[in-house]
Parts: sequence; structure tokens; C-alpha cells
Amino acid sequence: MLTKVIEQSKIDHFTKWFDRADKIVIVSHVGPDGDAIGSSLGLWHFFSSQGKTANVIVPNAFPDFLKWMPGSKDVLLYDRYKEFADKLIAEADVICCLDFNAIHRIDAMGDAVLASPARKILIDHHLHPEDFCKIIISHPEISSTSELVFRLICRMGYFSDISREGAECIYTGMMTDTGGFTYNSNNREIYFIISELLSKGIDKDEIYRKVFNTYSESRLRLMGYVLSQMKVYPDYHAALISLTKAEQSQFDYVRGDSEGFVNIPLSIKGVIFSCFLREDTEKPMIKISLRSVGTFPCNQLAAEFFGGGGHLNASGGEFYGTMDEARKVFEQALEKYKPLLNAKG
Ligand code: 5GP
Ligand code: MN
Repeated sequence: MLTKVIEQSKIDHFTKWFDRADKIVIVSHVGPDGDAIGSSLGLWHFFSSQGKTANVIVPNAFPDFLKWMPGSKDVLLYDRYKEFADKLIAEADVICCLDFNAIHRIDAMGDAVLASPARKILIDHHLHPEDFCKIIISHPEISSTSELVFRLICRMGYFSDISREGAECIYTGMMTDTGGFTYNSNNREIYFIISELLSKGIDKDEIYRKVFNTYSESRLRLMGYVLSQMKVYPDYHAALISLTKAEQSQFDYVRGDSEGFVNIPLSIKGVIFSCFLREDTEKPMIKISLRSVGTFPCNQLAAEFFGGGGHLNASGGEFYGTMDEARKVFEQALEKYKPLLNAKG
């Protein structure tokens, strides 16, 4: 049995909307990851099974390693089909906002979502949700939005209507947001849910391979290169990796190729904090990805030094300046956080 994580009043409230709704739009964050696409498609399969007209819209493209997911071909990219997407958003009865806590996280789509008269529900696990939805299901203690989607569907009484395809999407989101159940994954109920998803016929081992073991040769060589350039800061239990635009083109970089790189330095004994700086190809900025193990609050550091945020162990931000400047800011941050980095956690 699962704990009733989501308040009953919210389940009842959403069920009322759901029963009356015909057109439902599901939106998720820019640079969609496995949980964004997994939770969105998990919900989409369920809505479709109930005869609703449902559409998933995300701000921009998602990585190739998620394209096998059932329903992914129907995901609408806002930056390519803005007019059609705007129409769907404006005409929706209900809009479900998944896996983001602030309207700016859906980029240019934000205005259309805010302007739509649709009823809006947020289903998310990031801290401090903004107040742009009538129903807010926000649970930072839950490791993925996909898990929340599973819990929501079950609590509405529709477990039996979850299809194998829907289960595959939910499983993918749970798996990717926990690094294949290697972090944020000590809640035993996760494994009860996996057991329930297995009962739907999913092949979890195959899903793992499809997501984590289908990279290109150039991606693996890029990884080798990035690691060869890595800087380790033993006095700070930290490591830094980076990737400039020039280096990206040298390795035929495609979107998603550096996915997961930031976690690798954490496999060094004694390293509890990892930073990845990547020059963006679209905007004139450096994307910051931070990861930690234990109690080191990389979200606090992200907010203080890189105008970002996120979770305790996984956060990010943006830096407008050169790579050298970004490195310097990172080193200043290390100095400031030295006591915490050296605390026995
Ligand atoms: P990633 O390193 O995978 O891009 O991001 C990890 C987490 O950090 C995301 O799930 C999100 O919570 C947070 N994050 C990443 N980039 C930003 C950002 O620019 N601003 C904020 N507030 N959070 C971010
Ligand atoms: Mn997530």
C-alpha cells in the first residue's frame, strides 16, 4: 500500500475538473528531460484512455534517447508549431503543468498559458512553486514528477486503466530523475510502484538500455575528452568539467550529448560536489549544472552565484560571460562554501 501523499481535497478537486473536461493540454519545462517527457506522456496516455482530447506541448526539442517513448511523436514543440500550440492552449479546458515550479521555466509558452482561461493544475517536485495554478500538487520530497503522476492516477481510482505504454513513460521519468535509482531513491514506496509498473508488462532492463546505452561514438569520445580536461579540487572535495562551443563542434555535438556528464566526477573518492559548465549554442550564456552527494546544498550555491536554483543535490543556473569568468566565479563559490564542503556529511 502507498502512503496518501497527495491531499484528498486536491484529488477530489481535480477529479471534478477531469470529469467535465474534454480538451486537456499538458505542458512541461524547457530542455525537457526524462521526467518532463515521462510524466507528461504518462498522464497523456491515461487521459487518452479516458476519451479525452489531450496534447503534450513542450517549449523545445528533447534528446534523442527519449524518442522511443510511446507517444513521443505526438509531443508538440512550441518553438516549431507556435500558432497551433497557442490555439490548443487557449482552447483547453484544463492545463496540467508538469515538472516545473516557475512560469519562466516554460520560456515563451508562459504568456499563452497565463492568458488561457483554462483551469490549471501544477504537478511538480521542485521547491517553492509559484502561484500560477489553482490546484498545486507540489511535493519536493518525492523524487520525480512521474511518481506523482502515478500516485494521482491511482488515487483517482484508475490504476487498472494505466496501459503498458503509460507505465513505460512513468517508469522512465522515475528512473532518469534518480540516476537509475542511485540517488533520491531511498523511499521504499518507489519500489512498490516499480512492482506495480512491472505488473503492466514493462521491461525495465530494456528501458534502462534504451535510455542510457544508446549513445553515439562521438558522444563517448566527447566524454573521454571532457574528463581528460577535468579539474579536481581536493581541498574542496569538488570537481569541475567544462565544454566550450568550439569543443562541441569538434565532437559533432548534438543536443543531449552531455547529458549525465555532471554526475561522473562524483564517482571519484572524496568528491561530493561536481560542476559542469557548458557554453550554450543558442543563447550567449554558459549553462551551469551542479550535483552533490549528501547534505551539500548545491541549490543554495546555484542561487547565490549563478542566479539559479533547483534541488539540494541537483541544481543549475546560467552565467553571462566567458568560460574563464565562469570558472573564477565557481572558484569563489568554492572558497565561500569551503566549510560546508569540508563538513563531514
Ligand atoms: P540540470 O543540471 O539537469 O540542467 O538541472 C538540474 C536541476 O537544476 C533541474 O531539475 C532544475 O531543478 C534546476 N535548474 C537547472 N537550471 C536551472 C536554472 O537556470 N534556474 C533554476 N532556478 N533552476 C535550474
Ligand atoms: Mn523532475
